[in-house]
Amino acid sequence: MRIVLLGPPGAGKGSLASLYDIRLGIAHLSTGEIFRQEIARRSALGRRVRRYVLSGRLVPDALVVEVMAARLRRARAAGFVLDGFPRTAGQAQGLDRVLARQWRRLDAAVYLISPQPLLVKRLSGRRVCSRCGANYHLRTMRPKRAGRCDRCGGRLTVRKDDQPRMIRKRLAVDRKAAAPLVAYYRRRGLLHRVNGVGNVETVYRRTLALFRRHRWLPS
Ligand code: AMP
Repeated sequence: MRIVLLGPPGAGKGSLASLYDIRLGIAHLSTGEIFRQEIARRSALGRRVRRYVLSGRLVPDALVVEVMAARLRRARAAGFVLDGFPRTAGQAQGLDRVLARQWRRLDAAVYLISPQPLLVKRLSGRRVCSRCGANYHLRTMRPKRAGRCDRCGGRLTVRKDDQPRMIRKRLAVDRKAAAPLVAYYRRRGLLHRVNGVGNVETVYRRTLALFRRHRWLPS
């Protein structure tokens, strides 16, 4: 299965994609997570993207597409789910070119719909593992041990860009870029809208029903 998950910050893309990875063996590729790891490692790429990520602005399309082209080449046979990429129509075109070169194409673009107040609530309560990047929430997705990751025991932290002022900025940046992106996938007949309200298990089950109906899941 090869899909992109669309939706604003806080729509639940990361939590869902990590369930597809764990339960279905479909590689979860998150540009935000890749960038945060590279920034933490102080790599050459990390130094190039740092100022964008820390200020909530979008990394330039050409650079994002270049990074993802390399990751997609190594993706598992079971497929991939892209989380946070593409973010603009330009990136979507870049992705199509990259996949065509690899004789592959997307099955679908799944758009998670959630009202703005819910997005703000999810982002402001979010905690992220500083070691493996797993997501938690203060009220709705608590870890078993306070402040520690269930998966690796790493320390849970607040993402720098999940501060209230930055949340508003990121949602505004996304609103501007999202319409042409959604229109792009609608024109290509790949767009599927899914209700993103509810906990991660509920939304997971909704998307799984969609995947089964269209027979996108690997056998
Ligand atoms: P996320 O974890 O998806 O919220 O991404 C965190 C930050 O990484 C964003 O605010 C952007 O600065 C950057 N970023 C992630 N994905 C992309 C993308 N596809 N295009 C441009 N910038 C991105």
